[in-house]
Amino acid sequence: MSSNDQIIATTCPFCGVGCRLDLHVRGNQISHVTTPYDDLTSKGNLCVKGRYGWDFVYHPDRALTPLIRKELPKPGARRPARRDDWRAASWDEALELVATRFAEIVEKNGPDATAVFCCAKATNEDNYALQKLFRAVIGTNNIDHCTRLCHAGSVVALQMAVGSSAMSNSGSDIYDCDVAIITGSNTAESHPIIALQFKDAVMRHHAKLIIVDPRRVEMVNFAALWLQQKPGTDVPLFSAMANVIIQEKLFNAEFIRARTENFETFAKAMQDFTPEMAERISGVPAEKIIQAARMYASAKNGAIYWSLGIPEHTHGTENALTLVHLALLTGHVGRRGTGLNPLRGQNNVQGASDAGAMPWHYPGYQESNDPRVVEKFRAKWGHTPPVGRGLTTTEIADAWGTGAVKAQYIMGENPLMSEPNLRHAHRAIEQLEFLVCQDVFINESGRYADVFLPSATFAEKDGTFTNTDRRVQRVRKAFEPLGQARADWEIVSQVATRLEQKLGRTGTAYWAYKHPSEIWDEMRELVPAIAGISYARLETERLQWPVPNLESPGTPFLFAETFPRGRAKFFPLVYQPSVEEPDEKYPYALTTGRVLYQWHGGTLTRHSNVDFAAPEAFVEINPSDAPRVPCQDGSPVRVSSRRGSVVLRARVTEKAAPGVVFVPFHYAEAAANTLTIDAFDPQSKIPEYKICAVKIEPATLRELAEAMPLGLTQRLDQAPRVHNAFA
Ligand code: SF4
Repeated sequence: MSSNDQIIATTCPFCGVGCRLDLHVRGNQISHVTTPYDDLTSKGNLCVKGRYGWDFVYHPDRALTPLIRKELPKPGARRPARRDDWRAASWDEALELVATRFAEIVEKNGPDATAVFCCAKATNEDNYALQKLFRAVIGTNNIDHCTRLCHAGSVVALQMAVGSSAMSNSGSDIYDCDVAIITGSNTAESHPIIALQFKDAVMRHHAKLIIVDPRRVEMVNFAALWLQQKPGTDVPLFSAMANVIIQEKLFNAEFIRARTENFETFAKAMQDFTPEMAERISGVPAEKIIQAARMYASAKNGAIYWSLGIPEHTHGTENALTLVHLALLTGHVGRRGTGLNPLRGQNNVQGASDAGAMPWHYPGYQESNDPRVVEKFRAKWGHTPPVGRGLTTTEIADAWGTGAVKAQYIMGENPLMSEPNLRHAHRAIEQLEFLVCQDVFINESGRYADVFLPSATFAEKDGTFTNTDRRVQRVRKAFEPLGQARADWEIVSQVATRLEQKLGRTGTAYWAYKHPSEIWDEMRELVPAIAGISYARLETERLQWPVPNLESPGTPFLFAETFPRGRAKFFPLVYQPSVEEPDEKYPYALTTGRVLYQWHGGTLTRHSNVDFAAPEAFVEINPSDAPRVPCQDGSPVRVSSRRGSVVLRARVTEKAAPGVVFVPFHYAEAAANTLTIDAFDPQSKIPEYKICAVKIEPATLRELAEAMPLGLTQRLDQAPRVHNAFA
């Protein structure tokens, strides 16, 4: 190591586990990444994305200068799809155009004709600044981000039942747990380092895992019990476990009496959910349901971990409520090794929500219709923020089509990969009058933008991420942004200053931030749960909120004494089938999800060398179904739903249940959301990504090649080049 080399401690930009990354750098070159053995989250291990996925920073396709369309669409004209007619612009010109067009649209149509997607990959400070721009300067609550598309059902259920939507405990609490239910979570691929701890707890600490999942995910190999339910049948399955716990008097009567409400009504409703009834609907044998209920209820410390397989349904809120009920019945909350633990997906999806990237919550989940809250934010921002409820992500995408939203700001998200029923989303985005995208790469959504603002990567900026355990961790700048890229919070502040002038609101809110620590300090003043987390403390500590003051050590687990809503509440439920189930014409249930080597819409990982480990889309199909297509492992097939088709390779595997197929959602050339249905959970507005009906037919290799905008061979020729000064 030369004297010019530095080691910069920062936080992984991919998943919500939040492993510490030590970037080994010389100048602006990262040579490699390590993590310390005593790190709280990684414990010396990194998955392939954290270890090797950082090279997207240097990918030749990265946008490093502001871009403006050579020809902007005329007002009222439909925006052509995927134009490629950019010209480089100065920052001044690009920022001026963004501020001018937003001001024109606000003055003509009102603030609610605009909307913003914040970003679960960006820092807390980036997200706080962006929601402040839209609330304090423009005056709309049309603010959301991808949490709506992943855990919205969990968030609403937890808010209803206990009054707090965050994970109550930590991933590493598994070491204090004797029985854990893990459901709707392909933990080994989506949260690999937490999965490593789960495996370790099973192998060396005698924890028992109950895996509840339609797919034979890797964690099944470590399970004491596997319940393989049909997709969309979680309510009867988990309610039947509640039925057994009540019938066999395995519940914690003292906990229910002291800390909950509505038990009697709930218990009556659960009488219908016998294990036999659940077996008929879910396909899980009644005796396995009884065994799971007894194991969890009789544990000393029982925990529940879940991911997107639970909330991403039209009854996603009810699904999550069934899990809350199990914890409340048994009193498995408020201690180490217990709890209600929705594993958050992206690196900062927890933090973006905390920072106020939500349509009815200001920062810190403070209600936008509470006059005291509105006054508190007015006093700080100098301008009354909008009262009431804004549009959610999915409602905003619909509003593009109806013309209700005319100007859209997207920071780091890619709705044209993440929205359900993508054809509909493509048609809708064409109706916008003005679109600005701020990102590292021009992704599927960026191709529709009028202005593209190039942002800095995680390695080029300071700030904080909040991981799935509610742990606030530093992101540290290793070198200055490449090219003309700027940190997101800087870009947002510059847009805000210009827009304030154009809207005649100069001086109402503070925007002269010199460093993100000033933004964080402003956020701390407004959000009691993080008041005690200073940048100075984060030099040596990684605190889990709530941290109400500088003396507080943080809160490793929630609900020890009470719940935020006082008593936790049981909700009687009824079973409702999914909106679209397999039938004669579309005989397979499609479910979607992640693979280890890719991340979400692929904006980052498909520009990294890790892409070459999993470069191609596939559909998993059970060996008993393959002859019905017919197809073999590796054959090209066409998967079609009532909304569209994709061509990709078949992967014939026991991992898929008979009648259920799986497509990962990372691949634009075979986008899984071309197939998914835009039906929503009425309470949380989350789309039903986890089940729709599809058919599968043989396709030709030619059709497979044509489906790829760039053939695989061509992409291999364009392999990312890592500029490595150490080499
Ligand atoms: Fe990064 Fe998540 Fe992998 Fe840890 S587990 S290295 S946070 S992607």
